[in-house]
Amino acid sequence: MPKKIVAGNWKMNNDLSETETLLKNLKKQVIPEDVTVMVAPSFTNLYAAFESVREHPIEVVAQNMHQSVNGAFTGEVSAPMLKSVGIQTVILGHSERRAYFNETNDLLAEKVNTALENELKVIFCIGEELNDRRNSDHFEVIQNQLENGLFHISEESWSHIIIAYEPVWAIGTGETASPKQAQEMHEYIRKTIAKHYSHAIANEVSILYGGSVKPANATEIFAKKDVDGGLIGGASLKAEDFMAIVNAFG
Ligand code: PEP
Repeated sequence: MPKKIVAGNWKMNNDLSETETLLKNLKKQVIPEDVTVMVAPSFTNLYAAFESVREHPIEVVAQNMHQSVNGAFTGEVSAPMLKSVGIQTVILGHSERRAYFNETNDLLAEKVNTALENELKVIFCIGEELNDRRNSDHFEVIQNQLENGLFHISEESWSHIIIAYEPVWAIGTGETASPKQAQEMHEYIRKTIAKHYSHAIANEVSILYGGSVKPANATEIFAKKDVDGGLIGGASLKAEDFMAIVNAFG
């Protein structure tokens, strides 16, 4: 059975004191035992966040990392640096990284390798743009992102992978994929993994949905068979909204 996971991607929001306040509010809430809750603060706040939830079942994860482990890459952060401040999981391939920082499938394949070599788990984001869906190319785009960014990994590595399906047209737009559209794509992703690897692997991997998930729509999206949780942007910035989404699943 895939793990149920709800992860909050805080993006470039929250300074140190806002990070601490949000975590303080999250820590007051009871987390359902069967849901893994993750939050992704910015790099500067990762260590403080990690320390803040040390005794609490919230996992602090990173939003990105560089494909090299060290070197002359001004402004970048490496996998060993993340590990050194307690981080176990990194988000890779978010559509904002793909769109604004030119992250290609090839580059992401490198980043995935570096993460796995450094024993980091990966939340690997995939998603089609609005035009892809309008042209009915969405399944092909997703297959391409999987094949070129992820399907080079070994069977053993899949225990370190979480997939996040995030249609780009639904991110930060207030427009959500319908539960039916989400289920259809999640099922397609699972079948594609089964075809390239095995049913056993496909049936174990958590596939999260992301794109304008809110307390009001989380229950019906999470009720779908192949939706194992959510990657939440805007609604993860308020403790009560984020916890309402977590509880929609618990
Ligand atoms: C995201 O950026 O991963 C995301 C899903 O954002 P939002 O929930 O704001 O659409």
